[in-house]
Amino acid sequence: AKARGKNTYRFFSQDLNDAANERLLIESQLREAIRDQQFLLYYQPKIDLSDETLIGYEALIRWLRPDNTLVPPNRFIHVAESTGLIVPIGEWIILEACRFLARQHSRGYAVSVSINLSVRQFNDEQLTATIERIIQRTGVDPAYLVFEITESMLMGDTDAAIKQLNQLKRLGVSLSIDDFGTGYSSLNYLKRFPVDELKIDRSFVKDIPEDQNDMDIVAAIIAMAQKMQLRVVAEGVESEAQAEFLKQNACYLVQGYYFSMPLAEQELSHLTFSIKTQ
Ligand code: C2E
Ligand code: CA
Ligand code: CA
Ligand code: CA
Repeated sequence: AKARGKNTYRFFSQDLNDAANERLLIESQLREAIRDQQFLLYYQPKIDLSDETLIGYEALIRWLRPDNTLVPPNRFIHVAESTGLIVPIGEWIILEACRFLARQHSRGYAVSVSINLSVRQFNDEQLTATIERIIQRTGVDPAYLVFEITESMLMGDTDAAIKQLNQLKRLGVSLSIDDFGTGYSSLNYLKRFPVDELKIDRSFVKDIPEDQNDMDIVAAIIAMAQKMQLRVVAEGVESEAQAEFLKQNACYLVQGYYFSMPLAEQELSHLTFSIKTQ
């Protein structure tokens, strides 16, 4: 019995060690990645269905390892977040996305760029100053910058969150609530936060048109957004039927594989959408 107990203990501690070791490994690799600039941004088009134009892009980070594997964000963002490395990485993301925006504008494209913020970044008191510095350095018009945050970032200390949002708004950027409907949604808090846009989470879109319940939820979110004069964007649109449903319900702003995957900047020239010009 004693031997088995010992084995059991070893079994679990080995498991814990594996998880901890993997984390440590990713952490040291992330430090290398920052140093050696192994990150890149992909851009997913945001389409306006009312006139079929491309109106902007969401910047999505990728990690290109020295062995040429492309690592998706859900494999490393949580480690970057828990180690605090997301702050320097996030600063790089904002700078890179603003440089991209400046290049788009210099070609005459009136597109916006949406940037995801992590919890740690959002709670950083330096965030507004950092963004302001990057706006000045790159010369971009902040009216074309959108910052995406999630509901959960707003729920802890709501007064601090409102203060942070107001500071960001003063820069002239817009704010979007990502993955809307998946968090602790309360209609009450929406009114209190100075946001401009809601992004309907993919989980509500993916089973349209089969799931009547999801269709009712999506229609209700769209109606509510309109009532509150918020822009509404549907993410994860993968089929014509989904796009048609959204259009019928007056949600014109969409993103998803049906229109385009996220692409590297040099691949964007292959897109066939007409792009809003200045
Ligand atoms: P998100 O912000 O909700 O981004 C949307 C995710 O859905 C992206 O995955 C995108 O590639 C994927 N997607 C887009 N259209 C479709 C579709 O039609 N079908 C399906 N199945 N998926 C679609 P990705 O790029 O792997 O990013 C995953 C998550 O990682 C993001 O979710 C976001 O939370 C985080 N993330 C990505 N880039 C950044 C970043 O630069 N900073 C931070 N803080 N987080 C990021
Ligand atoms: Ca997002
Ligand atoms: Ca999302
Ligand atoms: Ca999502």
